[in-house]
Amino acid sequence: MTRAVRTLHASVLAVALTSALVGLLLPVSGPSTADGLPTWLRWIVVAGLVACGQLARVRVQVATGSVSVTWGEAALLVGLHLLPAQWLPAATAAGAVLAWTVLSAGRVHRATAEAVHAGSSLVAGATAASVLALAIGLTPGTALTFAGALQLTAAALAYLVVSVGLAVITLALRHELPIAVLSWPALRVKLPLFAGNVLVGLASIAVIEVDARWLVFILPTLWFVHNAYGHRLRDEENKRTWITFAAATGALDGPDQQAVATAGAEGALDLFGAERVEVDVVTAGGTNRYTADRNGLVVAAPPVTEPSDPDSVLFARSLIAAERDLGEIRVHFPASTGAAFRNEAVLSAYGDALALALGNAAISGQVHDLTEQAVYQAAHDPLTELTNRVALLAEGDQALGELDRDAPAALLLFDVDRLKRVNEAMGHAAGDVLLRGLAERLLALARPGELLARLDGDAFALLLTAADGPRASRATPPPRPMIAVAPERPQEAPPAPAEPPILRRARQIAQRLSEPLDVCDVPMSVEVTVGVAVSPAAAADMAERVRQAEHAMYRAKSANIRIAAYDGAADSTTVDHLSLLAEMRTALVADDQLVLDLQPAVDLATGAPTGVEALIRWEHPRRGLLTPVDFVRAVEESELLARFTGYVLDQALSTAGEWRVQGLDVPISVNLSARNLLDPRLPGEVGALLRRHHVPAHLLVLEITETVAMSRTDVVDEVIDGLRDLGVQLSLDDFGTGFSSLSFVTRIPVDELKVDRSFVRDMADSARATAVIRATVELGRRLNARVVAEGVETADQRAALVSLGCDSGQGYHFCRPVRRDKIIMLLRTLRDSAARATVVPLRAADDAS
Ligand code: C2E
Ligand code: CA
Ligand code: CA
Repeated sequence: MTRAVRTLHASVLAVALTSALVGLLLPVSGPSTADGLPTWLRWIVVAGLVACGQLARVRVQVATGSVSVTWGEAALLVGLHLLPAQWLPAATAAGAVLAWTVLSAGRVHRATAEAVHAGSSLVAGATAASVLALAIGLTPGTALTFAGALQLTAAALAYLVVSVGLAVITLALRHELPIAVLSWPALRVKLPLFAGNVLVGLASIAVIEVDARWLVFILPTLWFVHNAYGHRLRDEENKRTWITFAAATGALDGPDQQAVATAGAEGALDLFGAERVEVDVVTAGGTNRYTADRNGLVVAAPPVTEPSDPDSVLFARSLIAAERDLGEIRVHFPASTGAAFRNEAVLSAYGDALALALGNAAISGQVHDLTEQAVYQAAHDPLTELTNRVALLAEGDQALGELDRDAPAALLLFDVDRLKRVNEAMGHAAGDVLLRGLAERLLALARPGELLARLDGDAFALLLTAADGPRASRATPPPRPMIAVAPERPQEAPPAPAEPPILRRARQIAQRLSEPLDVCDVPMSVEVTVGVAVSPAAAADMAERVRQAEHAMYRAKSANIRIAAYDGAADSTTVDHLSLLAEMRTALVADDQLVLDLQPAVDLATGAPTGVEALIRWEHPRRGLLTPVDFVRAVEESELLARFTGYVLDQALSTAGEWRVQGLDVPISVNLSARNLLDPRLPGEVGALLRRHHVPAHLLVLEITETVAMSRTDVVDEVIDGLRDLGVQLSLDDFGTGFSSLSFVTRIPVDELKVDRSFVRDMADSARATAVIRATVELGRRLNARVVAEGVETADQRAALVSLGCDSGQGYHFCRPVRRDKIIMLLRTLRDSAARATVVPLRAADDAS
């Protein structure tokens, strides 16, 4: 309680006691009443009436406090009629004490200080009325006249003004509100009752004049009137409460828990006319408290347990929605009014509405978070948090679109060498640490406006659209064609002075990336190979740039250098080339453009079929029949390769499935491109196709060339291991032409070696060619692999190969490639002829000559 309130209370008490005492001591002038009641009894009756008037009270909420309406004025009027005015303060004091005694006995809670103040306010009011009565010469016991009634009313008014005035001042002091704000609501409630009070008082006096005993009947009447009025007041209050309730709950909708809790606390403050409201919200991170009070709002402080305040009463309710405890609402009232809090039902309903709103906010918050998360995940690589390939293409295209058509843009592709080694030696967790470390370095090296992404496994991409990057390289145009300029590894000679800035930048980044990095406490350095693609913004979209940079990167690898720039000439990506690829996309869907020619290989001794090679043809609707040489290279360098290979495998296996059903257990051979072996998805796709066509794995022979085998051995090994695990056969195509055939076959087990047709062609004139074939046959024997001679066109060649010990042969001498519908017939013929004559020169198809 504030000091001002205490001082006020003390002064009112002093005034009351003094006036009561002084009043008793003052001489009584004039005659006493005529009704013959003894003075002491009249004194007691007045005290009793005062007590009754106080007990029958209606409390009405005014701002944060409440105002009581009582029958004090009626009691006062009767008192002025029955007793000399100077005795009235003492009789009122006695009545107040009586009333408070009854209330305490009935265990109606009331703070003592409050009760004493209320009592002394009454006495002060009575004193004011007495002084006025004495001043205007009002004498007790006189017959009721109109002038007398006016005098009495004036005295009652003095009483009203003082008692209500004191209550209003107390409220205003306590809640620091202007008196004017409180006066009108208090008077609005009081005035009708004041009028009733005066009427009842005057009526009682009239009754007493007839016979004081009639007073007994006045009391029940009064009781009835009192209840009726009390009900009206409460109805009004209820109506007001529910209107405020609707407004407060309507305001509870909010985007998040904080908004809802804030609205909830503010709404409750108004709704309950409380002194302070706290809303505790339980969250994953702990409980937050939102406090609203008359001084403003304190948001989200952790709750503190305060010592209980004797001047304050607390009503609390748990906030529960969908059986989840979401927190608590705590409504504080001043002790003086808290006792009158009748709105527990409203608090309960309000708590439910608040809990529901909090629950909804939590759910919508979760939905919002999940959506954001999903959007984020779709565009980011989970390991490094960098942009992923899909997002790079989209964002890169957008960035390119914002540039001038001729503004240069560069894509740098960084491929981490031997990541698989790290994974194998130290575990995948170490590989992840390494990748994250590299990603961090790249992030630090990227400049504002550049786009950094992790493409897949071990490749990062950096798109440079900033003016100082590629544009600078324009000032010193790189020589055409732009090809590899990096010095050979391992010795890192200083870069040539004429090196274009973009390549210098690429080299700097590559060098920074290959500095040792702590991986699980082991300093580790990796090398990166960089592919660079530079062209005007409008020249190529992101997908094409990625392809170009990859192309350059592979070139760097195969040339064993660190950095290569994309070279359009080497890629032969001419306009025609690009349109060819667009047409290939259509052909892959069209189903009747890409067809297989099938060419058997036969046992050189018996002529029985040992296998059938699938050779792709493109019956182009505009260009006519195209052979692999016309388009396979373009496809190999595009992102269509995987689909193309899948298409060929599908066709080949479906044919093989057909001849198997006819009882022909002949393997089918399919040519793979070097780049197929860099695609880790290949084994899975091959496995799926074998199952789809019910072809046992050992009846599929995959022909691979060794050109790819030297770089990126980790990925190639992985793919080859995967294929071997399936049980398919591997054949080394064009054997003898690669520069490291031997090292390849010692590393990768193969089931077949295909002697390149150049050796077969040259065999007759070249001892070297014959030597190669002989060595190959010998190697095949050692490795337990079949040896198939390609391009056998004549009977002489066939005879020579037999004498060299070669197992089988393939070529026009035996049969030309045939279409799918002829192959079963051809295989049957070959098989049957072989069965008829064990060693016969075979002519199943026309001679090549
Ligand atoms: P390859 O694997 O060396 O295929 C053998 C090639 O020699 C075929 O040419 C075939 O028609 C031809 N040939 C067969 N017998 C003789 C002969 O007695 N004399 C001569 N001079 N040639 C003969 P084709 O069909 O034009 O294929 C060329 C190359 O295209 C193939 O060489 C192969 O590397 C590639 N290829 C063919 N089909 C596919 C495919 O589906 N995918 C991939 N990636 N490459 C394919
Ligand atoms: Ca082949
Ligand atoms: Ca070949």
